[in-house]
Amino acid sequence: MLANKTALVTGSTSGIGLGIAKALARQGANIVLNGFGDVEGPKAEIAALGAKVAYHGADMSRPDEIEAMMAFAAAEFGRVDILVNNAGIQHVARIEDFPVARWDAIIAINLTSAFHATRLALPAMQSANWGRIINVASVHGLVGSAEKSAYVAAKHGVVGLTKVTALENATTGVTCNAICPGWVLTPLVQKQVDAKAAALGLSIDEAKNLLLGEKEPSMQFTTPEELGELAVFFCSPAGANVRGVAWNMDGGWVAQ
Ligand code: NAD
Repeated sequence: MLANKTALVTGSTSGIGLGIAKALARQGANIVLNGFGDVEGPKAEIAALGAKVAYHGADMSRPDEIEAMMAFAAAEFGRVDILVNNAGIQHVARIEDFPVARWDAIIAINLTSAFHATRLALPAMQSANWGRIINVASVHGLVGSAEKSAYVAAKHGVVGLTKVTALENATTGVTCNAICPGWVLTPLVQKQVDAKAAALGLSIDEAKNLLLGEKEPSMQFTTPEELGELAVFFCSPAGANVRGVAWNMDGGWVAQ
């Protein structure tokens, strides 16, 4: 379905971003990966699906590096048809204790990077009259949780940016939507599980169940594969008039 289309997924060397990149690759899209850590493993996983794959290591907190990444993707594959703004980090602390540098980093990586990548991707999408911008927000773009001020502020911002991007392009073939996962057992959440286990003297399984039990009625983690299929839907012909939604996949978290 996505043959001859190119998808750039930020923060796709791990977790949800890699899951979305693989789902788009299975539909035939060329993939531009981005993120830190092991690169060869994720590149091989995408290539094994028969997709063309490239990688750019832009630090998403740096506008100049985001510009270089977008120029690289265009040079490599012609243009970016599908942009998935996914890179994100977390820090957990009460507001009065929140390190200022962590606040700045979370706003830069989780929110401002989406603005930069979007503004740079839009002109080519508008010329082609086809484009998909998918912002990986969170249930924390819809509701709050204590000790996550920067993350919740950034994710609510991402949901707002999603709506404005959708509206400014509403009469075109360019859509923008947000995906709002509940708990997904990626390295980002594993750190929170480990911290809970250590703080409360629990086993890892007990800490996982406590985490789920506090927020997620299904008592199940959402998977990167499930989120990938939602991204595929947004890219499908049936998704052509889905504009500006913030779609939660959260085991009932926000229904409460
Ligand atoms: P993860 O830690 O597994 O992956 C994060 C990715 O972002 C990695 O590839 C990492 O290298 C990359 N990254 C981090 N800082 C970067 C930077 N400065 N520049 C470029 N890349 C950078 O985390 P994840 O859980 O897969 O999170 C992906 C997105 O999903 C984030 O936006 C996160 O907020 C969101 N999310 C996660 C959950 C969850 O439960 N895991 C829930 C809701 C939303």
